[in-house]
Amino acid sequence: MPTSPPSHPAEGPAASAVGGSGSAEGPNPSAAVVGGSPAEGQAPSVAVVGGGPAGLMAAEVLGRAGCAVTVYDRMPSPARKLLIAGRGGLNLTHTEGLERFLARYGEARERLGPLIEAFPPADLRAWCEGLGQETFVGSSGRVFPSAFKASPLLRAWLRRLDGLGVRVALRHRWEGWDETGALVFARPDGGRVAVRPDAAILALGGASWPRLGSDGAWTGPLAAQGIPVAPLRPANMGFTVAWSEVMRSRFAGEPLKRIALAFAGQTVRGEAVVTAAGLEGGAVYALSAPLREAVLRGGHAVLSVDLRPDLPAEVLARRLAAPQAKQSASTFLRKAAGLAPVGIALLREAHGPGLPREPAALARAIKAVPLRLTGVAPIERAISTAGGVAFAALDGRLMLRARPGTFAAGEMLDWEAPTGGYLLQASFATGVAAAKGALAWLGGRGEAGPSPS
Ligand SMILES: Cc1cc2nc3c(=O)[nH]c(=O)nc-3n(C[C@H](O)[C@H](O)[C@H](O)COP(=O)(O)OP(=O)(O)OC[C@H]3O[C@@H](n4cnc5c(N)ncnc54)[C@H](O)[C@@H]3O)c2cc1C
Repeated sequence: MPTSPPSHPAEGPAASAVGGSGSAEGPNPSAAVVGGSPAEGQAPSVAVVGGGPAGLMAAEVLGRAGCAVTVYDRMPSPARKLLIAGRGGLNLTHTEGLERFLARYGEARERLGPLIEAFPPADLRAWCEGLGQETFVGSSGRVFPSAFKASPLLRAWLRRLDGLGVRVALRHRWEGWDETGALVFARPDGGRVAVRPDAAILALGGASWPRLGSDGAWTGPLAAQGIPVAPLRPANMGFTVAWSEVMRSRFAGEPLKRIALAFAGQTVRGEAVVTAAGLEGGAVYALSAPLREAVLRGGHAVLSVDLRPDLPAEVLARRLAAPQAKQSASTFLRKAAGLAPVGIALLREAHGPGLPREPAALARAIKAVPLRLTGVAPIERAISTAGGVAFAALDGRLMLRARPGTFAAGEMLDWEAPTGGYLLQASFATGVAAAKGALAWLGGRGEAGPSPS
């Protein structure tokens, strides 16, 4: 059975109606404790800490099961990162086969696999459509809501949660546990609220884009409890390049379209964008995990850029064998090799005056521009976060072994994945899993969940 005293957060000073950001501020106890023994048969109380996709999904599962759920979030409104993800169309998940899908999680595949199998991409699409948001499959197999944004989905979801009686306490920053084991929240007015729910779900996100709410400050309280947390690192991020002044001033913001990037035996086709500080964009993100490890290990990594992946080197060499006549070198490269000015600049950046003129050698140079990456872009600009709560700290139901009754979900767990819908799918699926874990635990067993093999 749960060991901490049960409480009624839905009735406590920290509680507020969904969407009622103003009413999140109740009376102002400087250290009020919300808790106490419920009457016989009263719904168990669950605090969900973090109102992103993982936390809200956990809240929905728990609310449907009849729990008294309060979602706490430090921001004035929930799910801000979900809304920003909507700016790119909200890539919810992917339609590729499940084995291939699960392989995207690399080392975390073993632990995430069963959780995603229990709430697979098809279920996520059905859930989205259940909220009145049809989905469609893009040409790459990625799944998006037809509205191609997150706001209608989030609005419908918050309405559903409201209907389930889920409360949302906004502007409540979780600071850790007090000596009695209560969850402690700080409020902007300097007040503190201590809450003792029957169970808690931590869904505090990673540390990228901290202005949206997830700043990774939760690592402190967890580490203080001896809970192993792998250092938070940027994932799906750009890299710094020591560009020349010409490259920086003339080409920052320019896309390198239809290129292929290669590193450590992996090749990815797509697009990248030159920035003042270096290089970012989808194709870079896809290789960002091995590139990051190489840069952190050796101080740099050399990425190979194929500016014409659609043309074999021999075909390109034949085109480059045409007479240059009176054309400038740039015009010749643009016309004969079909390179954009930014591609030509990249080629010159890498080779300087040593750029070969002989057609076969020039073709080889165009198809393998060596680009030296000197650093990793800061986590503040990364799409997602690697590192987090170690799976060894969690049982098979995502319960923290060190804190029975407290579960963890979402990007705060130690996994990473490329863009393509894998981030949201794992966040939603672990939210479902943590909620089900909490329900099983509240169901009276109280013992640790199954140990993952
Ligand atoms: C620009 C951008 C675009 C993206 N696009 C996509 C995409 O198209 N597809 C995709 O799959 N993924 C995408 N992602 C990633 C995806 O949004 C995240 O993986 C996902 O939101 C993680 O969900 P989460 O619930 O674990 O964490 P979060 O969404 O980060 O939510 C955590 C919540 O916890 C709250 N919180 C944090 N600390 C505290 C605290 N101490 N006290 C109280 N509350 C706290 C935060 O305010 C936040 O609301 C994108 C990310 C970015 C930045």
